[in-house]
Amino acid sequence: MSNCAVVGINWGDEGKGRMVDLLTKDYDVVVRFQGGGNAGHTVINENGKFALHLLPSGVFRKGVVNVLGNSVALDPENLIKEIQEVTSKGVAITPDNLMISDRASLLLPWHRELDELEEQRLADKKYGSTKQGIAPFYSDKYQKKTILAGELFYPDELREHLRELLEWKNLTITRVYGAKPYTTDMLEEWLSKYCNKIKPFISDVGAYLTQAQADGKNILFEAQLGSLRDIDHGIFPYTTSSNTLAAYAPIGAGVPSAKLDDIIGIVKAYSTCVGEGPFVCEMFGDEADKLRQMGFEYGAKTGRPRRVGPLDIVATRYGVEMQGATAIAITKLDILSYMDKIPVCTHYLLNGKQTDSFPFPTALKNAQPVIEYFDGWKCDISHVRKWEELPVQAQEYIAFIEKQIGCPIKYISVGAERDSIIIRNTEDMT
Ligand code: GDP
Repeated sequence: MSNCAVVGINWGDEGKGRMVDLLTKDYDVVVRFQGGGNAGHTVINENGKFALHLLPSGVFRKGVVNVLGNSVALDPENLIKEIQEVTSKGVAITPDNLMISDRASLLLPWHRELDELEEQRLADKKYGSTKQGIAPFYSDKYQKKTILAGELFYPDELREHLRELLEWKNLTITRVYGAKPYTTDMLEEWLSKYCNKIKPFISDVGAYLTQAQADGKNILFEAQLGSLRDIDHGIFPYTTSSNTLAAYAPIGAGVPSAKLDDIIGIVKAYSTCVGEGPFVCEMFGDEADKLRQMGFEYGAKTGRPRRVGPLDIVATRYGVEMQGATAIAITKLDILSYMDKIPVCTHYLLNGKQTDSFPFPTALKNAQPVIEYFDGWKCDISHVRKWEELPVQAQEYIAFIEKQIGCPIKYISVGAERDSIIIRNTEDMT
């Protein structure tokens, strides 16, 4: 039995979906333990290209059981649409390979609209929400004003509960935002169109995972976004509304007593960040446009151009520490092949002093990046599958990062496809 968490080290979009898809061959169960449909994990395999938003990335492996844990923002409407999209490309999603925790809270019809209304109110001070209703969902969850998935099996109590929530939420929608109230008919339509369809997947996931542990099954915990978006330890308030850290995985999945044997942190070979907030190493102008273009850096969910920059050692070291990573996977190393010189942000300058430590969120806007340059390799590396076949400049780049962040880089991804990977032996590591 072995438990592993696959988590983002930076701002998200590091390529977790691609790594989970690869690693699932050694796991029996894949669990999403936080977040909602606001991210997009891109997976390319023999079935085609997929942008997964809520479904765990293990859905493509036969025999793997995929679980949506209690801490996800369960949006029945988007989940049903995602299931339809994936099944239309020949991937089976049935209660045998997808389970939804009966303790997961439902993202209600008004959450998406509230996101939109609040971003409009904030105007130029907005946080850069993906408008998937995630922040209103989590704030309502912690006010105990949502519905648990398991309540769908208790129709009388459910209708009474929904009626109370409707009355309460309409006060905010109409009085604070001046928008149109929701009606019971709207909720009935939502129940029959979407919620009824997810019912076959709902069960006591906690009991299932506990038994899976007892049976010696291997469980992989899959996160959304990255360390710097963690609500408690990230760049607040430009974080997401949930905990993206590995330490939270067992709780968010439904087996609080599970111990993690491995924590694989995903780091992109350069930095990207979607939306608003401080991004110390950001590049601008032609240099940034070129990197964005070469790396296809546009949001999987929103299509928004991502902000780009060199690899940020300060933020990455902090991310590794927050995740407690035991190994690192570097993705998209192939993208840097066009560069003559490869920039790396090694330190920050803050109040006239050089620092290695990731600053308190409010101070981040005053930090300046200190950049060092490495020689580029200037050749295609996408076919390389062995460490010793990588150009020496690429080896030096990886070895430098490894030393700086203090964690072994075990996987180096050189392409989006499942097999475009270099897996290092211990003796290859510095
Ligand atoms: P996630 O949300 O962390 O799973 O990351 P995204 O899916 O948003 O972004 C990763 C993107 O990079 C996807 O389009 C992947 O197919 C692609 N990708 C992942 N690893 C590599 C790689 O090593 N090389 C290249 N060229 N593309 C990659």
